[in-house]
Amino acid sequence: MQTIKNYINGELLEPFGKQYIDNYNPSTGKVYSLIPDSDERDVELATKAALIAFPSWSAMPKDERSRIMVRISELIEKNLDRLAIAESMDNGKPISLAKTVDIPRAASNFYFYATSILHYASESHAMEDTAINYTVRTPVGVAGCISPWNLPLYLFTWKIAPAIASGNCVVAKPSEITPMTAFLLSELCIEAGLPKGVLNIVHGYGHKVGAAITAHPKIPLISFTGGTKTGAEIARVAAPMFKKLSLELGGKNPNIIFADCDFEKTIRTTLQSSFANQGQICLCGSRIFIERSIYEKFKIEFVERVKKLKVGNPADADSKLGAVVSKSHMEKVLSYVDIAKQEGGTVLCGGNQVKLDGEFADGYYIAPTVIEGLTYDCRTNQEEIFGPVVTLMPFDTEEEVLVYANSTQYGLAAILWTENLTRAHRMANNLHSGIVWINCWLLRDLRTPFGGVKSSGVGREGGFEALHFFTEPKNVCIKLK
Ligand code: NDP
Repeated sequence: MQTIKNYINGELLEPFGKQYIDNYNPSTGKVYSLIPDSDERDVELATKAALIAFPSWSAMPKDERSRIMVRISELIEKNLDRLAIAESMDNGKPISLAKTVDIPRAASNFYFYATSILHYASESHAMEDTAINYTVRTPVGVAGCISPWNLPLYLFTWKIAPAIASGNCVVAKPSEITPMTAFLLSELCIEAGLPKGVLNIVHGYGHKVGAAITAHPKIPLISFTGGTKTGAEIARVAAPMFKKLSLELGGKNPNIIFADCDFEKTIRTTLQSSFANQGQICLCGSRIFIERSIYEKFKIEFVERVKKLKVGNPADADSKLGAVVSKSHMEKVLSYVDIAKQEGGTVLCGGNQVKLDGEFADGYYIAPTVIEGLTYDCRTNQEEIFGPVVTLMPFDTEEEVLVYANSTQYGLAAILWTENLTRAHRMANNLHSGIVWINCWLLRDLRTPFGGVKSSGVGREGGFEALHFFTEPKNVCIKLK
């Protein structure tokens, strides 16, 4: 059985306590590797290594840092198949998805920030002929990066890449539920010649390793992606220490479909935005609002196609859904189907665990589920389920659907289908969310600001937003006369 190690000061190390956690393969329900059960001693060692590495890494010319990061990106690409298989085994997602989305994006994250840093300029503000101000941006020091299990390497590298590109050193914790590709990344960083201590990866539980990173006095910046409750706990600990915080949290995104949409495109993309990664993407559109005049037509066509989506072995090329990430998560998702029924919902398809044969008999599979007949303000439509479950609701007017769409505590993303450009702009303006996709979903330009409003988070990732976050601006004012 493979034993994962921490990556500290350029070396692969056992945890201090020599304790390990079982790592499950969700597609079979079997333990297949061991993860370090690290504690604050490992975080301390990692932080010390990062502090020692910081002066030389931050002083290294940008193009040298950039070249090392490009090498990491190339190594991720070179190891695409191996990483995709590992991601699928750890998370349960189809290998085809990991191969086309997760791993290529991890490579792009490194490449994007390796090159962004070469073009990152700071501001200057002239005060006519009195004075000139210029802004110096310096790295903050040691950054703490904590990431979730749904897009493991994708989201882990989305934090690490801008952090180290801008000259910081990092102590990072992947989710203990999906640690494998972060471990493989540490091997690739060694191969790429990343100087020791620049990136340190400490595996283990959130309440031990994550909490130790959050509370560490020498880590002045925390970049976190995960659940809203965990984000609130991190903010509670970090705020009195005046740490810089970036929190990318949960979502309960509306998918709004007007009668004038391109029907075929809408259906095809809605299948994706509902069930990609088993619905475990913070950007999935789990509340589908359909203009009443096409409600029945949409419902019949959508449900028919959902029933055809194959739930199966993640290694099979035709599996559209693999396993959800864990037994407890499967139980949580299915408990929401019960809640929906109690709230008066009708399950149009799915709603049950899927039992596969042979070695997959104990895997955590859920049939893609469509529910109708619920009100917009019931628990099913207000709480984040984070699984392959969507609800359908009719609406009559723009004003009405805006009330429904904006009614949750979340505000991460919204999806809008209409061929009416004026309405599209108007709706985009009035939706309370950090991202609005019109006639598309998950179309990403890495230069754009990424993040949510309300309980979906604080701050933005992406492009220069992330480089701003990982640096501290200093204004220098020179009087001219
Ligand atoms: P969690 O909040 O449970 O965990 C996220 C990370 O935080 C994990 O590494 C976890 O470790 C760690 N953690 C847990 N407790 C603490 C603590 N007290 N202090 C510091 N770190 C801690 O989220 P999930 O992993 O369950 O991920 C799913 C959530 O992530 C969903 O709500 C989803 O919407 C959100 N998400 C948001 C995105 C966005 O960009 N806005 C993108 C993707 C997901 P451990 O695994 O050991 O618990």
